[in-house]
Amino acid sequence: MPKETIVVVDDEPAARTAVARLLQERGYTVYALTGGQEAIDFASNTPFDVLLTDFRMPGGLDGLTTVRAVRRINPQVVAIIMTGHSSVDLAIESLKLGVHGFVVKPFTAFELIRNIEQTIAQQTLSRENIRMKALVDVFSTTQALLSANTEATQLPRLTLELAMNRVSATQAALLLLSPERENSLELEVVAERSTPEDDGGDLMLPVFLPVDGYTNQHSAQVEQIRLLGQRALDANITLLMIDGEEVVPGSPRMLSSTNKLSQAIVPLMAQGRQVGALVIEKSGADPNFTEADLQIAAILASQGAIAIDNSRLVHRLAKVEALHQADRLRSEFVAMVSHELRTPLTSIKGYATTLLRPDVQWNNQTGTEYLSIISEECDKLMQLIDNILEVSRIEAGALRIYPEPIQIYEVLDRAAMETRRRSPEVSLAVSYPPVNEIPYVMGDSQRIIQVLRNLIQNAIKYTPSDPRIAIDLDVISGDADQPNGMVRISVQDNGIGLTQENKDLIFERFYRVDTGSTRRTEGTGLGLAICRGIVEAHGGQIWVESEGRNKGSTFFFTLPVADIANQLDLD
Ligand code: ADP
Repeated sequence: MPKETIVVVDDEPAARTAVARLLQERGYTVYALTGGQEAIDFASNTPFDVLLTDFRMPGGLDGLTTVRAVRRINPQVVAIIMTGHSSVDLAIESLKLGVHGFVVKPFTAFELIRNIEQTIAQQTLSRENIRMKALVDVFSTTQALLSANTEATQLPRLTLELAMNRVSATQAALLLLSPERENSLELEVVAERSTPEDDGGDLMLPVFLPVDGYTNQHSAQVEQIRLLGQRALDANITLLMIDGEEVVPGSPRMLSSTNKLSQAIVPLMAQGRQVGALVIEKSGADPNFTEADLQIAAILASQGAIAIDNSRLVHRLAKVEALHQADRLRSEFVAMVSHELRTPLTSIKGYATTLLRPDVQWNNQTGTEYLSIISEECDKLMQLIDNILEVSRIEAGALRIYPEPIQIYEVLDRAAMETRRRSPEVSLAVSYPPVNEIPYVMGDSQRIIQVLRNLIQNAIKYTPSDPRIAIDLDVISGDADQPNGMVRISVQDNGIGLTQENKDLIFERFYRVDTGSTRRTEGTGLGLAICRGIVEAHGGQIWVESEGRNKGSTFFFTLPVADIANQLDLD
């Protein structure tokens, strides 16, 4: 490491030259100056590490005044005073003004060097200590940025907040490259430091401002930081602007204390990818950004950039995956629908073509028979299309139900009556508790009867001989999930039953168990998918139990009990 740069100030040429030579021999870079004013002018143009000044310099500024002025320009400078008369008062006064060490005249070369080395070491240590503390703090806070729990949308805010707090910025903004807007740099978050009164204490929390409002009000500034952000990004360097003028970080201008506004524009890069830019600002009332501030801001910006970039990648992947999935489902659906539509259409086309054959004269009876087959197939087609539409509505979450407090046993009676009228050969039993013990249910009775109709028709369809169907109703008391309780309705048959593996699959659309008896019965495999959609839209559940093949099946579904208040209203 190169040794420090030392400025020696002494009005006595002999002493000045002797000290300068001594230090040069020790490997320091030395500038020997004749007085305080010279030192101040020098400090304004050239950075250096140590100011070694004589205390009394008649005809010019004294040592303490020189130290004070130089440290105002360069607060990092280590100041050592050479004095002929050491006193406690002088020592205290000097320490107050930021003097770090004394060498009492006359001194030997050894004493001078030892003193300078010790003071520099002490200062370096204490600065290093402060820097380490800040870094430990920065690293622990950046953990939050990289932790998986942080919401992706919160990352820009969090980055801004951390940076703002670490460097005590008065205002800060974060811009992100927007892929939606041709990769232009757009303002994402903007914040200013609260005044102590705002947060009821001296904690200066950032206050986030509405981005749109801010952009409208300060369009010129926003445009300016967008341009600067793009420049910082393109060059991948931190830009420092003081009162609108670009300043090289580390140069003395950075240290002058008479600015109105200083801004640091830090690029946000992740793995060579441009992500955005962080802008931190300090108003003139605050001490300027130090180099350590800029370093900390750069660390935070790079951590923030990685976190934001990662979350964007994850988001993009998830979107692509969801699109693929939707695409797969859509093609699957289209394939199934075309297949299902083809069967009745083929039949219609076949009978129609046969009827239209010019070489055959059909008698009236055959003609009527074929036409009625065509008509039935058309009905099936219509039913199928209705069901397909219903399933798509369910899948799109667009199934409309209109629940209201209803007497559920009335719905059971209605379904039973319909079945008896249509299929008088079926033995059907309906049982429920005494009606005054059955609570109102929140349900859309049109939809619930649709579910029951479907389950009863299936029970008949999948029971090859002597179908016996039992419909039951049970009241289930409330729990944490359903505080008002549920009613459970079951439809039991003595049919072909279901194997374990088919029990869940039959509720999927187009799924039909592939057995001889199922193949013989007509169906689309949509009925139970629709039942599930309707029951779940009510907040209930549907499932099936079966002891196995040819052991019959029992379908169950639950519906939530209506709120007591609703029941009272009805009464
Ligand atoms: P579909 O009856 O039109 O085929 P569903 O969605 O109503 O369509 O039923 C899906 C499948 O579930 C049926 O094809 C059948 O294999 C099976 N299934 C439905 N109800 C019963 C039942 N009560 N007993 C045995 N299997 C049934």
